[in-house]
Amino acid sequence: MIQVTCLGGAGSVTGSTYLIEDGLGRKILIDCGLFQGGTQVEARNWQDWGFDPEQVYTLFLTHAHIDHSGRIPKLVKDGFRGKIITSPPTAELCQIMLLDSAHVQEMDAEWQTRKNRRKGKRQILPLYITEDAAQSLKYFSPVERDKMITVEPGIKARLRNAGHILGSSILELWAEDEGGEIKIVFSGDLGKQNQLIVKDPHEIFAGDYLFIESTYGNRTHRSFEDSKSEFLEAIQYAHSHGEKVLIPAFALERTQEILYLLGEFSRNGILPDIPIYLDSPLAIKATQIFRKNKKYYDEEAMAIVDQGFDPFGMPNLQFTPATEESIAINERPGSAIIIAGNGMCTAGRIKHHLKHNLWRPGASIVIVGFQAQGTTGRKIVDGEKSVKIFREDIAVKARVFTIGGFSAHADQKDLLEWVSHFAESRPHVFVVHGEPTASEALANSIHERFGMEVHIPRWKETLMLKAREVARGVKREEVAAADIKEIMLSKVIDLQYELDRLKQVLQKRGGDIEIGEDEVERLTAIQGELREILPD
Ligand SMILES: [Zn+2]
Repeated sequence: MIQVTCLGGAGSVTGSTYLIEDGLGRKILIDCGLFQGGTQVEARNWQDWGFDPEQVYTLFLTHAHIDHSGRIPKLVKDGFRGKIITSPPTAELCQIMLLDSAHVQEMDAEWQTRKNRRKGKRQILPLYITEDAAQSLKYFSPVERDKMITVEPGIKARLRNAGHILGSSILELWAEDEGGEIKIVFSGDLGKQNQLIVKDPHEIFAGDYLFIESTYGNRTHRSFEDSKSEFLEAIQYAHSHGEKVLIPAFALERTQEILYLLGEFSRNGILPDIPIYLDSPLAIKATQIFRKNKKYYDEEAMAIVDQGFDPFGMPNLQFTPATEESIAINERPGSAIIIAGNGMCTAGRIKHHLKHNLWRPGASIVIVGFQAQGTTGRKIVDGEKSVKIFREDIAVKARVFTIGGFSAHADQKDLLEWVSHFAESRPHVFVVHGEPTASEALANSIHERFGMEVHIPRWKETLMLKAREVARGVKREEVAAADIKEIMLSKVIDLQYELDRLKQVLQKRGGDIEIGEDEVERLTAIQGELREILPD
């Protein structure tokens, strides 16, 4: 029996964490995300893990967003010493995301402590500090997608493109159990069809169990083309008034999509000739990582590169990492486009830009991302006449453009289309990562359309998974169609692993018998030979 406990990303969209335990008691984690959105939810970040981090040898990370990766530094701080398996771009993005997250934790704790001191209350410690985040980066073990890997004997896995953000992955996991092999698929966050920059999500056909996200399980996105025209209109509106365009944007993916579109407008000669500022140190670093990782682009982005352009560049673009440069932007009169974090206007440089521009008729505020309840961004979207920024009431006189078509998540139509490929293997479906109404809508649609058994797990619910007859036929076909070379190589890895384990046991016993390096070398040689002999 395989057990899966939903320790986050169940009944909500943040804190994604799933613990898998097999019959031998081996533990694997899928994602280790931060809970976000209000004191009550965020208190979960401090709770006991519900398992011993030291006993987890493998953590699969689907992508670099903080709601999937943000508790990794705490996991390592609390004893995790295993491998964090993820795609190479995710590992690279986590280097900047986790350090930034640690900085945010430190700042928050400092602010809370100052507030508490005035009330005569205690000091607040951060969830983790920069040093913890830096430590945790040592455990990252990047693996290219589409490669079959053996995690431990009897447990194999493969990452597939999820098309959500650069490096984002779906996870396929095979685990042997008394009743046979069980295949579990974790969708991670799934991208929509034809999303900018990244390729469309990989289609998967076989599975006994499927965990699928449902962020937009009850919604259909507005047309992308309409959103693009609306975006251009927002720029033209502020430009015609000699005012600024403010774009509060999330540093990862959304900012790069905005730059990508501005680049397209620029190449098509429809972008007004005004300065464009990327005013976020984190987004600047993320953009550099996007620029480096061209091999993960989709065809359209590659075509731009092949024509000699930078998909995230245009003549008027300036990066402003330094604080003085950021301040100088508002001292310059005239029109400009300013992209700054954070995405919900609750912190960061965007607050300064809002203070300078929100009250100016003729300016544009372009909202391109999800705005949670209670945030300044949400208040602006909801049409409040004034909002509080740095304890000052600022009138909202700028025109607000809420553009819904730039989401990096699949909508209900995309999700159902992706699930339709499983029609033959009919996995048992668990709908996760969504607000209850969104999850329910998706669960009902999947059940009605495909007749699959569907369940919406609660937070901390443990699910019991057994080998299933239905999926077996499809799985057999999948195995037959799989690369023989891959299977052989994975067997050698199994052997290598066993040998290594045996070596450790013998060493512990202190006996003379030793398995020398030569045995391991011999296996490595066989592996090399297999690679050459077997056809590609
Ligand atoms: Zn995400």
